[in-house]
Amino acid sequence: MRLVLIGPPGAGKGTQAEYLSERFLIPKISTGDLFRAHVGNESPLGLEAKQFMDTGQLVPDEVTIAMVEQRLDDPDAADGFLLDGFPRTISQAEALDGLLEPRGVKLDVVLELVVETDQVIRRLSGRRTCHGCGKIWHTEFDPTTVAGVCDRCGGELFQREDDRPETVTHRLDVYTKQTAPLINFYAAQGILVGVDAVGPVEDVTERAIGALRSFV
Ligand code: ADP
Ligand code: AMP
Repeated sequence: MRLVLIGPPGAGKGTQAEYLSERFLIPKISTGDLFRAHVGNESPLGLEAKQFMDTGQLVPDEVTIAMVEQRLDDPDAADGFLLDGFPRTISQAEALDGLLEPRGVKLDVVLELVVETDQVIRRLSGRRTCHGCGKIWHTEFDPTTVAGVCDRCGGELFQREDDRPETVTHRLDVYTKQTAPLINFYAAQGILVGVDAVGPVEDVTERAIGALRSFV
């Protein structure tokens, strides 16, 4: 299956991506995670991306598309993938079609996680991520047993720089202006499916699996 997850920042894409990639045995490809790894390594790409990420802007399309193209060529993505956070602009979506076409494949489905703005703001303000294993937690909705320590690997949790309130407002605006138009773009192709992403994580996963069934 070739699947894209779409939804505002904080909709639960990273959270659901982990479960769905396990369920469908496809690699999760998160452009946010790839950029954060480059930033962590202080690679030239990371240094370029950081200035955009810290201010809640999108990294330029050419840079992002080149990074995804490289990742899609990894052998594990040959038979399917789950994209989380890409595409985020119409031109990225067109570029993705252009990358898949010569490989003789196309997207099967775009899953929209539907959550209203007030809820995503609460989710982003309490999001914590593990330095060790990358697991996503929430101070209120999915707390660890000991504050600041990952239950899964014992790693230290951190708050993302771009989850500070000033940046969150801007990211939501960027989503509305640049990413939300993709919903109509994919609906017109008949490959969009929406799920209510409010409620316990495992309920959302069940709804997502149910919605994806007719596309696999
Ligand atoms: P995204 O990848 O779309 O930005 P995340 O998966 O990182 O979103 O989720 C944002 C925050 O919301 C995280 O702290 C996560 O633990 C929390 N979260 C995810 N799904 C739910 C849910 N169904 N209910 C409550 N909180 C959730
Ligand atoms: P995310 O982890 O998906 O919330 O992404 C964090 C940040 O990485 C975004 O705010 C952007 O600065 C950058 N980013 C991630 N994916 C993309 C993309 N597809 N296009 C441009 N920038 C991106």
